[in-house]
Amino acid sequence: MAEIYDVIIIGGGPAGLTAALYNARARLKTLVLEKTKLGGQIALTHEIANFPGAVKGAGEEPSGAELIARMTEQAQRFGAEIIIGKEVTDLLLEGSLKRVSCSDGTIFQTRSIICANGAVPREIGCPGEIEFKGKGVSYCATCDGAFFEELEVYVVGGGNSAVEEALFLTSFARKVTLIQNLDKLTASAIAIEQAKANDKIHYMYHTVVEAISGDGLVEAMTLRNTETNETFVVEADDEDGTFGIFVFIGYVPTTALYEGMLDLTDQGYIVTNDLLETSISGVFVAGDIRPKLLRQVITASGDGATAAFSAQRYLETNELN
Ligand SMILES: Cc1cc2nc3c(=O)[nH]c(=O)nc-3n(C[C@H](O)[C@H](O)[C@H](O)COP(=O)(O)OP(=O)(O)OC[C@H]3O[C@@H](n4cnc5c(N)ncnc54)[C@H](O)[C@@H]3O)c2cc1C
Repeated sequence: MAEIYDVIIIGGGPAGLTAALYNARARLKTLVLEKTKLGGQIALTHEIANFPGAVKGAGEEPSGAELIARMTEQAQRFGAEIIIGKEVTDLLLEGSLKRVSCSDGTIFQTRSIICANGAVPREIGCPGEIEFKGKGVSYCATCDGAFFEELEVYVVGGGNSAVEEALFLTSFARKVTLIQNLDKLTASAIAIEQAKANDKIHYMYHTVVEAISGDGLVEAMTLRNTETNETFVVEADDEDGTFGIFVFIGYVPTTALYEGMLDLTDQGYIVTNDLLETSISGVFVAGDIRPKLLRQVITASGDGATAAFSAQRYLETNELN
């Protein structure tokens, strides 16, 4: 509790690590608190093809984990402190000296805070989904794809994450079926082109998942056609005994921590102005946790830089550092 930081960044995803780089280079005493592992959502993906300059050459794209390892090393090289395994559970945001409490009882003091907690995968919300998490239901193809070698998998969703992860899953699965509630995919044109050129990928449109069941592992799934309202059951092939369900239907912001402290939108995102300031002075926001059109590494990193610069200006203007 003795040390006072200039900036504490909550969350070690692309937004938090970029903010750490900028604040450390400004010679501010900077600390990143990450509850699980660095990288956030990007650690879940096998390939980043759209972060400018992040290319290996020869057609091989750097994985999310590799990109994050480089971001981490860069922030630490300039003096940012990063602690993993610290879940921030309580905050005292008002006043010039703020307090950050973690689930293990540690308390940190800081002059400013950047909230970069990001988002977590949205769940379908159907019966059986939670029961079969890790037993056939997954939200991470990179983590769990290999468990479905030569089996069938279903990918729920039709946006970029769903289509790109479906493509990745074809390296393991015998057959991959995209279940999309709309009449078409909403991913980028290039991702759709690649999916359509892959014989292993099949499509079910106007379809939603109503229930998941099995005995230990996923064995069956009830689907509903949203046009006819008819339900039907998909069962595991007798020889396989099971199949995979990968869910990519969007994300929900991790903002429960800020309820009652900061202004949130109806969807739960933290409200900011263009400088990424919040309603409380000295508290800034970066990344997927705020309302925005495009949730990607590049926009999260852009926010990280802006929030870090705003924090720096706040400290200078108020002669706090
Ligand atoms: C499967 C998948 C594929 C993707 N592919 C791409 C792609 O190819 N290109 C691209 O540009 N983008 C991609 N994205 C989107 C991109 O990953 C996100 O936009 C980006 O990671 C957002 O960064 P962030 O730092 O705002 O939040 P996050 O990445 O969500 O990171 C937030 C971090 O905060 C931590 N945290 C949360 N609460 C607390 C707390 N209370 N205390 C401490 N730490 C906390 C979390 O553990 C997490 O590490 C993909 C996302 C997914 C899920």
